[in-house]
Formats: sequence, structure tokens, C-alpha cells
Amino acid sequence: MDIRKVAVIGAGTMGNGIAQVFAQSGFNVYLCDIETAFLERGIATITKNMKRMVDKEKLSDEEAKEARKRITAGTKLDGACDADFIIEAIVEELELKKSIFRQLDELIREEVILATNTSSISITKLAASTSRAERFIGMHFMNPVPLITLVEIIRGLETSDETYEVTKTLSTKLGKIPVEVNDSPGFVSNRVLMPLINEAIFALMEGVGSPEAIDTVMKLGMNHPMGPLTLADFIGLDVCLSIMEVLYEGFHDSKYRPCPLLIKMVDAGYLGKKTGHGFYDYSGE
Ligand code: NAD
Repeated sequence: MDIRKVAVIGAGTMGNGIAQVFAQSGFNVYLCDIETAFLERGIATITKNMKRMVDKEKLSDEEAKEARKRITAGTKLDGACDADFIIEAIVEELELKKSIFRQLDELIREEVILATNTSSISITKLAASTSRAERFIGMHFMNPVPLITLVEIIRGLETSDETYEVTKTLSTKLGKIPVEVNDSPGFVSNRVLMPLINEAIFALMEGVGSPEAIDTVMKLGMNHPMGPLTLADFIGLDVCLSIMEVLYEGFHDSKYRPCPLLIKMVDAGYLGKKTGHGFYDYSGE
């Protein structure tokens, strides 16, 4: 399958990172979001991140300029109609994602693969909202996309071998390392990571330690590159809460109940780094 143009739906934390790695790997990219302001913010992040790579001599100035030129952006899904591969990275809400996939399914060519970057929602369930369950797959990039090499590739119940192979090859072309897993709430990555983060939030809520103490124990004691509360701020507390809800609803097991402090922070609009407030203060950045 000859993939030249990719559409990325959602220009937030993950979408702009995904658009950047595709553009840097020579693909033309259509980046779509609901508002021009979100697209501008996404493109500004891409430009800033590529400049940082140029400063660190990981990318030449020319390569950065060429990559930037390969990205077009718009608020209409129609811009994705001539894409050869589509990856969705909108907010972690089942009904919203299903609605986007229903629209895309009508819009795009029959052979085009639809991929989702969902952190936890059932690939099989999302695939069922389309007429192409065999050409539907989970392509779960990690944050920050340009830096982390793993891509978790999740097969839905009906995902075909061809779809899996195309997605695996595509991941390799992006310089990523694909790992195949099966469809289950949270897949492997968030089944293991998110309860760890949730437990760190319980420890904070119960006064076991300050955010700094909890993060330092995990960094120095367990050799984690980042403490769980810093990581939660980085991922987005709304995203963390959505994933815990999917695990809780998916397994009906109380060990996955979201920590009340996490719920309260999201209610307050403290979503982490992206809003300037989370377990730490980023307002000066
Ligand atoms: P985000 O909130 O930063 O960005 C989501 C973007 O989607 C926003 O810009 C929003 O305006 C846009 N959007 C909402 N509805 C839309 C629509 N109908 N059409 C087009 N755009 C729309 O969220 P994020 O952190 O980038 O997460 C996106 C997806 O990636 C989620 O499914 C999340 O679970 C998953 N994910 C997140 C992380 C992470 O660390 N943040 C890691 C892996 C996967």
C-alpha cells in the first residue's frame, strides 16, 4: 500500500506530535481540529519542537523547513478525503470518537485504514462504528511523540493481518518500534501505568507524602525518569481520569476506581501542564 498523505484528526498534545513525526519522515500531513486557534497552537508547538531539534543538531534547518511545508491544516474533515491513512487523536470520549469515525468512513476511499491513538477505549467498539472493521486498528503513540520510540499497535477483533502489517511498516518508517498487543481496556501500557499514577494520587490525598516526595521516591528509588505526579501533569489529568474510568468500567474491579483527588482536580480545570496547573504550577512557563 502506497501511503503518501496522512490525516491526523486532533491537533492537541498527541495530534501535533504525530503530525510532526509523519512530516519529518517525508509524509504529507493534513492536520484537523475544530477551531483555528487549536490548529495554530498545534503548529506553533511543532515549530518550537523542530527548532529545539535543530538547536540540538538532530535535524537540519532545511529538513525542518521541508517538514513544516508538508503540513497543511484545517477545521474541515473533508481535508482528509484524499488521505491514504488516517489517525485520530481527539479527546478520549467514546461517543465523540465514534461520531468522527462514522463521518470519516463515509468520506474516505474504501481501502484507507482508520487508526486511533486512543489510550484505552476498545478498538473493537470503535471499529464497529465504521463499515471497515478489518481496516481499523489502534496505533498508540507515547507522549512526547517525537521522543518516545514505542508505538503500541492494537488489533481489534476484526483487524486484518494486512492492516496490521501496513501499520507496523508505517511505524517503522517513522523510526518507531511497534509492539503488537490485543484489545483489552488500557491495552498493556495504561493497564500498568495508570493504576500506578492513580495510586500516587491516593498517596498524596492521604497525606503520605508531598508531590515532590512521592515523585522523588519513584525517580531515585525505582529509577523512573519522571515521578508519577509529574508524568500525570504531562499526560493531562483529564486524560488520566478518562483512562481510569475505562479501566474501572471495563473490568468492574474496584482496584481501578479513580482517586477522588484526581476527579476534583479535573472538576477544577487543573488539567496539568496544558492548563498551567496540576500537581505542580506551570503558570510561569
Ligand atoms: P488534547 O486534549 O491535548 O487534544 C485533543 C484535541 O482534539 C483538542 O485540540 C481538541 O480541540 C481536538 N478535538 C476535539 N474534538 C474534535 C473533533 N471533533 N475534530 C477534530 N478535533 C477535535 O488530548 P491529547 O492528550 O492529545 O489526547 C488525544 C488522544 O490521544 C486521546 O485519545 C488520548 O487518550 C490519547 N493519548 C494521549 C496521551 C497523552 O499523554 N496525552 C498519550 C497517548 C494517547
